[in-house]
Amino acid sequence: MRYFLVNLAGILLRFIPMKAKTGLVKIGSPTKDSPVLLTGNYILTVSRVKRALREMDVYLLIANSDGINIWCASMGGLFTSKDVIQIIYDSGIDKLVKKKKIIAPQLAASGLEKKEIKKQTGWNIIWGPVYVRDIKAYLSANLHKSPEIKKTSFPLLSRLEMAAAWAFPVSVFIALCCLLFWNRAILPAITLTWFLTLLLFTFFHQYSRFIKKRGLECVGRRVRFARLMIWSLIMIVITIRAELFGYLDPISMIKASVLSLIIVIASTIDTLGFAPGHKSSLHPDKFNIVRVDSKKCSLCGECVNVCPAECFELDNKKLKIPGASVCVQCGACIIQCPCDALSFFTPDGKRIDPDETRQFRLNLSGSRSVEIKKS
Ligand code: SF4
Ligand code: SF4
Repeated sequence: MRYFLVNLAGILLRFIPMKAKTGLVKIGSPTKDSPVLLTGNYILTVSRVKRALREMDVYLLIANSDGINIWCASMGGLFTSKDVIQIIYDSGIDKLVKKKKIIAPQLAASGLEKKEIKKQTGWNIIWGPVYVRDIKAYLSANLHKSPEIKKTSFPLLSRLEMAAAWAFPVSVFIALCCLLFWNRAILPAITLTWFLTLLLFTFFHQYSRFIKKRGLECVGRRVRFARLMIWSLIMIVITIRAELFGYLDPISMIKASVLSLIIVIASTIDTLGFAPGHKSSLHPDKFNIVRVDSKKCSLCGECVNVCPAECFELDNKKLKIPGASVCVQCGACIIQCPCDALSFFTPDGKRIDPDETRQFRLNLSGSRSVEIKKS
């Protein structure tokens, strides 16, 4: 029951940090040879990791990630080497196991620097799978990572979770607005919000493909501004129509749904970085390309191991980046490369030094401007 309630709260209030207690948790009856795993203190993640590990004998280190999920906290500079070093010392884990080896979530590679952690504590970081659901199989396979568990995916269940995470706060906001100015629209407006959000996330992949196929990411500034104006107009039209004819009229309801769907689709362009007012780091104007300096590369494979988008291909002689165009700009490969062979290049060809990428994390608008405080 507690697990269900934590999951429900975690999904509906996903955008609000929820902190679990940091520290060392013993799961089962771990011994000196048991594995040590690491996670952040986001309450939903902790609950899911513990559930995935039940019936096993392991140590779980819960480090401070400010109550935010691992990937967001790592990308945003809230889950860093400093937090891991702190938990290693505070927990006294070095007295409990023989091998100084911590299995960390792969998505933490955008935030932690394994070289720094090793230097300061003597502990080795090993990158585990991307998702909690694969931990058990990964441990049972003697820490072998198949290509499938290295890659991020967006399956239907996750998409529905994300839809609920968007729809809930939007519904609350709409309900509060309606309560103040437009009482009778509360129920239809909330129903519409959930319906459209679920629809959009269910068909997210088809929608993304449609946008890419049409080249919508390449539209100019004026077109983007015009689109913003059109969205605003549609909003005004819906409001007037609903006020005049009532949302409960079926024809108005269908028309309003179609128009709102257009708005939701257009609004999601924003999250992909193609909106009139804001361009995230995925927009072509800002998209940094990862390149390799073959002379420096030792072919160690660390970048292949941490990349969540399968951008790299490595053989005995060369590292190639055939998937550079699907890079999600997480910076993990650059941060972890032991030879500084990888760098971001800006659209105008300027090289960003790897140490600069290590020092700055992404802010909310997708720019690398959050400075990391070194331990
Ligand atoms: S992590 Fe660096 S050194 Fe290792 S294979 Fe990748 S580019 Fe080469
Ligand atoms: S290639 Fe892109 S997606 Fe892959 S690890 Fe590097 S920055 Fe992240």
